[in-house]
Amino acid sequence: MMIGDSFRSRLGWKLFLSHLLIVLVGSLVLGVVAYLHAPTAFTHHVLRMQMEIGTDPALETGLRANFLAAIREILSVSGVVAAAAALLVSSFVAWRIVGPIRSLTSASKRIAGGDYRERVEVAGTDEIAQLAQSFNDMASALDATEKRRMELIGDLAHELKTPLTTIRAIMEGLADNVLPADTETFLDVQRETRRLQRLADEMRELSAAEAGAIALELAPAKPGEIVRRSVERLGRQYSDKNVELHVDVPDNLPDVAADHERILQVFINLLGNALQYTAPGGVVTIRARAPSRHIPRVVRFSVADTGIGISPDDITRVFERFYRVEKSRSRASGGSGIGLTIAAHVVRAHGGTIQAESAGLDKGSTFSFTLPVAVTRS
Ligand code: ADP
Repeated sequence: MMIGDSFRSRLGWKLFLSHLLIVLVGSLVLGVVAYLHAPTAFTHHVLRMQMEIGTDPALETGLRANFLAAIREILSVSGVVAAAAALLVSSFVAWRIVGPIRSLTSASKRIAGGDYRERVEVAGTDEIAQLAQSFNDMASALDATEKRRMELIGDLAHELKTPLTTIRAIMEGLADNVLPADTETFLDVQRETRRLQRLADEMRELSAAEAGAIALELAPAKPGEIVRRSVERLGRQYSDKNVELHVDVPDNLPDVAADHERILQVFINLLGNALQYTAPGGVVTIRARAPSRHIPRVVRFSVADTGIGISPDDITRVFERFYRVEKSRSRASGGSGIGLTIAAHVVRAHGGTIQAESAGLDKGSTFSFTLPVAVTRS
């Protein structure tokens, strides 16, 4: 079975077999034609010789010469027929091999022209079929990238619309003297331009992340240190809103392999969201654990809040770009729905995983992610 499969899937063997086939067919035709034609030719030449010279003593020599002449005639006739048959078989084989390659060539030209839906037929399992399959996989990947690019442009245009419409309306109001030229009006414009600025920054990061081009500077980092710096950055905002921030990070955790600044950004995003979606009086807890008891391979970090929670329908989508659970509320606070998408890309680029959990609306949410433990050289 195995031998049969690998035999069938080797183009070299197929070519060899095809040539062998040509030789066999040629020889077979030669033999058959010689066999069919020999008696007639031989008899014809012996009779002609007897008619011309009778039973001469030189008969033996004449017989030999005529026999050789007969053989030459046979071979030339059968040689021509065999060559014609071999030509037919080899053209058929070449057509079978060249055909799929030609269709690959024309399909790749159409793809180069921008038609990413182009696919070729995959027949069999040999190298040409594998090439056709790889070609189709490549075409699908290009198609998906192009779709993502178009979606991204569409999403971005949509995101730009709201702040731009607001700024235009304010400016028209100012020009028509409908709006007062006071601090409040200018702060409104400033808020919208800040949103545009933030969107531009996030888009730059997102496009790099989606292209898989996040440059990481990995170094061993202490989990406690990353958490301490995150708390330092957001602690003030927590106390301003009267949301308690608890830290539960044991000292004996192994170092993780992390780009300190980027993981800090992930924490700031998760802690910022937790603060935003938790009412005053709520509690947010940061935890870090090494799940495996013996040789820990990862450290799991989590940010749990007692806030508004996320419904099961939304929880699967919060990492999608531009996804906001409550559009108006999140947008009003400046959120564009990109933060978690970038956080997920950053964690995955580290070789970690990220997930969101919530028992439901008003039951709080927990975002957790893992980072691989740093390999220490002894
Ligand atoms: P945004 O910038 O809008 O906050 P994110 O990508 O950070 O974008 O979050 C996506 C959406 O996920 C948010 O708009 C919000 O609806 C929801 N979300 C994120 N974190 C929380 C949380 N801790 N509690 C409830 N909902 C959350």
